Amino acid sequence: MKNDNMAKEDAKFIRENVKAHNKWFEECIPMIASENLMSPLAKEMLISDFADRYAEGLPGKRYYQGNIYVDKVELKAIELAKKVFDCEFADLRPISGTVANMAVLMAFAKPGDIITTCALDQGAHISTCEFGAFGQRGVNSVNYPWNESNMNLDIDGTIKVLKAAKPKVAQFGLSVFLFPPPLKELQDTFNEIGCLVWEDCAHVLGLIAGKQFQDPLREGVNIVSASTHKTFPGPNHGILLGQNLTEEQEKKLQHAAFPGVTSSHHLHAMAALGITLAEMDVFGKEYAAQACKNSRALGEALYELGVPVLCPDLGFTRSHAIAVDVSQFGGGKQCAQLLEDANIICNKNMLPRDTSSVNPSGLRLGSQEMTRLGMKESEMKEVAELIARVVKKKEDPAKVKEDVKELKKNFATIQYCFNAGEPAYEYHDLVDF
Ligand SMILES: *Cc1c(COP(=O)(O)O)cnc(C)c1O
Repeated sequence: MKNDNMAKEDAKFIRENVKAHNKWFEECIPMIASENLMSPLAKEMLISDFADRYAEGLPGKRYYQGNIYVDKVELKAIELAKKVFDCEFADLRPISGTVANMAVLMAFAKPGDIITTCALDQGAHISTCEFGAFGQRGVNSVNYPWNESNMNLDIDGTIKVLKAAKPKVAQFGLSVFLFPPPLKELQDTFNEIGCLVWEDCAHVLGLIAGKQFQDPLREGVNIVSASTHKTFPGPNHGILLGQNLTEEQEKKLQHAAFPGVTSSHHLHAMAALGITLAEMDVFGKEYAAQACKNSRALGEALYELGVPVLCPDLGFTRSHAIAVDVSQFGGGKQCAQLLEDANIICNKNMLPRDTSSVNPSGLRLGSQEMTRLGMKESEMKEVAELIARVVKKKEDPAKVKEDVKELKKNFATIQYCFNAGEPAYEYHDLVDF
């Protein structure tokens, strides 16, 4: 046997740093709008034997043996997805939101085809950019015109763009997703062009599950792609949902999911997704409603403290997220760093007309994770005060950090799930090492 002391030290180093991260996050207020906490029951699935296995294809039609129980779990999870999202089609195999997007592109667009979509400084995700999945598929993207004052599509302009571009697919969905797109107003145009309508609901999937956001599949959207770990508090994974698709279109999507963009589909995550779907069926409404109330309360409190939040006239947001303009306080990069120094975790974000993603003028804040840990509107006010002390008053982050830790102590239990009570960030040693 080789002398393994060095390698063992390296393994220890990795484990110790993961533990340190867990410990740190216990003392943090995480406000990243694309993150969440899995329930203890869902998390348990991640260390099951499913994590070590392969299942290619669909339940009952696998290429590998050993999938007796995997098939049962996947069929149940698909059934739950159709129930929770009230839809005809669900595929749980994409292993992330980006991979789900790649599947849609593979199924419904060829290189050179036109897809209409939002632009990066309007809050779009990188996967719809030239340097992301859209570019990789070689589609020609055409952007919609944007109305900064209400952080939404300019309806008349969008109708014009759709009529001129005649896209094969009209795509919607954002990473700074404050308000739902005007799908009803665009429906006649979709019908006239005969395009497929696709929405990337990565950010708002949990709000849709809880019926607290526009329900895209009831408003003319044919395909929803999404991540399952943002407002939807499941594992790092992806999902495809469909409504009013032909059998051929459903087959195309399935074929794109596998063998198109995945081989095995991370069975442990698929099982965790199934559990989360069951939990959202029961607790989704209450959780999503509170997350939406909390983001508005956070926006309002920050605004009153003199920290500009976008769209005050519209109540700041209809979702879990708010966009904060910190250009007068040193910009997004500096403010996000100062907040991290105070144990408030968020990200810098581009706002309309920003040209630099490295030093943009905004911060994006999400309420969903702290909602899951039990915070309500009154705590959002406290969080807003902590943020304002760092960002506006430029108080020493080390000092604010002590108050952040103190506040967080009372919010260490995940709610809205079957077995609330387990600490959120506790690290479980499985072996003596
Ligand atoms: C986060 C996000 C994605 C990507 O999701 P991953 O699961 O990280 O691949 C795709 N689209 C939008 C709009 C997102 O916000």
